[in-house]
Amino acid sequence: LYVDHPLGAGQTVPLDRDQAHYLFGVMRLAVGARVALFNGRDGEWQAEVAEASKRSGVLSCVEQSKPLQVPPDLWLIFAPIKKARTDFIVEKAAEMGAARILPVGTEFTNSERIRQDRLQAHAVEAAEQCGGTYVPEVADLQKLSGLLDHWPAERQLMFCDEAEVGQQLFLDVTQGEGQAWAILIGPEGGFSPAERKRLHGMAQSHVVSLGPRILRADTAAVAAMTLWQQKLGD
Ligand code: SAM
Repeated sequence: LYVDHPLGAGQTVPLDRDQAHYLFGVMRLAVGARVALFNGRDGEWQAEVAEASKRSGVLSCVEQSKPLQVPPDLWLIFAPIKKARTDFIVEKAAEMGAARILPVGTEFTNSERIRQDRLQAHAVEAAEQCGGTYVPEVADLQKLSGLLDHWPAERQLMFCDEAEVGQQLFLDVTQGEGQAWAILIGPEGGFSPAERKRLHGMAQSHVVSLGPRILRADTAAVAAMTLWQQKLGD
């Protein structure tokens, strides 16, 4: 169970109405039962139900069952598309161990707004689902051009360029291990010529083909993360 509360030896954790409903109404747990908790910062803790009622409750941390597993320093940058597919990308990126998820507006992006809080909640659920102890931060929507203006000199960029279709599926990373990375996936309309020129010109850019077919952005995000994991993941 995810809680937005510090976890540690002897720490008590108050539950809100929804959490109490889930644990005591749906899961039927009673005082003394054990629950695994994580908050994205302190690893996983086994806690005991100390107080239980319909609308509230208190858990008491007993022992740590997993340390915080911080994933490799990988950002997933993507241009938000239709709501359901954006949700899918955030969920899969969190499952696959992205450290940060950054939605960006590009020249050919349709979506001008995102619900950052909803996407962050999806990242929490995905981490919960796969037993992770780390929750990636979902950043607010920003312009790709602004992000590139302040690009960190040491961060490598895996630029998934649909115009490279037909090239070999390959990420040349002889120098990239142990470094900070980012994967960039474009919108349904692809990148503009000006964006492609700029991205090709960046010293940190590694241009990547994801194979002979043009993939939907959500498929491309999963394929790119898999390729990255195979080369550089832990
Ligand atoms: N409108 C574009 C076109 O027809 O050329 C297609 C964009 S594609 C649906 C969305 C994004 O997925 C692209 O910007 C790229 O980042 C990524 N992508 C899809 N297929 C790819 C491939 N075969 N190689 C590299 N990137 C790919």
